[in-house]
Amino acid sequence: MAQIALLIGDELTASTQNVTKILDLFGIAWQLLDQGALVGSADASIPRPYSVVCPISVAGRVLMNSSASAFSPLLNKAESTFFYGADRSDATSELLSHLIGSEILKLVEIPQGDVLCKISDRYGKECGPMSGLHVPVTLRSPQVAIASTSAAGVVAPLISTGDACVFGAVDLDAVRYYLSLGATVIDIDDPVGKGYFDISEHFLEAVPLVMYLKHSFAGIAPAAVERGACLIIDDPVLRPRYGFVNFKKLAATAVERDFSCNIAFIPWNWRRSAPSVIELFKEHSDRLSLSVHGCDHSSLEFAGSNAMIINRQATLANTRMGCHRKRTGLAHDALMVFPQGAFSSVSLRVLKHNGFVAAVNTEVSPTGSPSLTQIRDTWGMAILKYGDFPIYTRRYTFHGLHNLIFDVLLGKPCLLVTHHTDFSNDSSELLEFIDRLNALKLELKWRSLGGVIRRAYQHWFAGGNRHVRMFGNEVIVENAGWDPQHVIVEKSERVTGSVARVELAGRQVKFGSTDNSLRFEFDLRPEESALARVCFTEMCGEPVGKKGLGGQAKVAARRYASELRDELHARAPLIYKQAEKARRWIHASMAAAH
Ligand SMILES: [Zn+2]
Repeated sequence: MAQIALLIGDELTASTQNVTKILDLFGIAWQLLDQGALVGSADASIPRPYSVVCPISVAGRVLMNSSASAFSPLLNKAESTFFYGADRSDATSELLSHLIGSEILKLVEIPQGDVLCKISDRYGKECGPMSGLHVPVTLRSPQVAIASTSAAGVVAPLISTGDACVFGAVDLDAVRYYLSLGATVIDIDDPVGKGYFDISEHFLEAVPLVMYLKHSFAGIAPAAVERGACLIIDDPVLRPRYGFVNFKKLAATAVERDFSCNIAFIPWNWRRSAPSVIELFKEHSDRLSLSVHGCDHSSLEFAGSNAMIINRQATLANTRMGCHRKRTGLAHDALMVFPQGAFSSVSLRVLKHNGFVAAVNTEVSPTGSPSLTQIRDTWGMAILKYGDFPIYTRRYTFHGLHNLIFDVLLGKPCLLVTHHTDFSNDSSELLEFIDRLNALKLELKWRSLGGVIRRAYQHWFAGGNRHVRMFGNEVIVENAGWDPQHVIVEKSERVTGSVARVELAGRQVKFGSTDNSLRFEFDLRPEESALARVCFTEMCGEPVGKKGLGGQAKVAARRYASELRDELHARAPLIYKQAEKARRWIHASMAAAH
């Protein structure tokens, strides 16, 4: 397994820089070598084992300008080489002819626009979780590719579109060379640009390189401990039926079709849970769980900039969920799902200091700042940009299986969001999606949402120790091996003095802070597991202000109206349609009057 990536080039060009950003993000060491290394003698000081990452044009030009008929020992001794960035130049033809053979190489051009890329299911080692997927891709410019029929038997087609191979592998002198023909490499510093990261828009500039790095540096780079999964339904009140959701049926289906389900529970409903539904949750605690969905579920309640007001809502949400637990005996996970996905950077700091473990959200940028979150933020286990409080991202089924599986390739948990309407027509579309997900044999661990998030951390082994990088405020670390482990945990924490204490299995442990990160250590015996918790100081003090009676009445009116709408939708669709029409008409008339 390679320990370091050797980049080839006389300088860090824009595309090489983009590669280094991804290597840094994945925690892979790299070194830049000038292009002479491709034909010169191998430098004895190069650390081994290594892989080579090189632009196609650089290697092609070196071959064109050199009298040598083959590459240097540097490539022959590499674990593998990744060539990237093809164009219509002579340098591209030279390199590809050298590897494939000029007599069989035939290049074709795929016009810009929408194409379907097929990831092979025959190379599971390289393609990993994405094996066998068909992905709709938008090409923003024409793309050079290798005609598959001409190169059959020489190029292993890892990704193809139509009759053309856009990512392939060639074996030469016992070394595997990967050819990624996508013209550019994604810049992960770019803003996400819309509500969620969409791999369809960056497919060729991202997927081949990510698949290659995840496969070539597995076991070296920090990696997820497991592939956790959970389906989240926003809003339902816990009564036997809510809109199209029938809880008894949901529990039975979760067992039968093998998935877990979390209800994003609105704390305002804390007095309204039916005992029969509570019993279902207790009986199926491995399948059904609760998280926190806002407080009153009023729009923008966690999207403002006033920390005091947000603190009041966060405290009230906690109090109501505590009352719900006392009343029903059903525990919930201290995870926040923002109503309508709306949040501000201030709200994340407030939640951190109110005992929440993490946020789980569909929207990736704060409300009003749609460009603030960069692609790199969404490629991490969780977005940590805002107050070092993690936002784990979740996806709608319309984002497509490919986006969810790309998340899994990146090492993120597999989190799906739904609403009660997805359970109409016997939930057929949703269940079909889950069946397709389970059929991919990704070894998904369907757990309670809290169980997924507490295990959504990275780990790696170095210097005889196990290193853990935690994101949420709690982690469960398990030693599944036969030997004792010394565990060193680190957590990004850029505000000094914000940590009150660190607990391990309920007991306080020593912690230190260096380089904007918190660090603590402990030992685990074989088959032992421990819950580690970081507790934060109070930030806002006692919550101030209270909603007046008028405000409370408005919240109640809104909640009942929303529920009535959901019930009408499920049980009287014709009346619902008419009511929706009337609502839209009133909205339009009011807008026209202003
Ligand atoms: Zn909601």
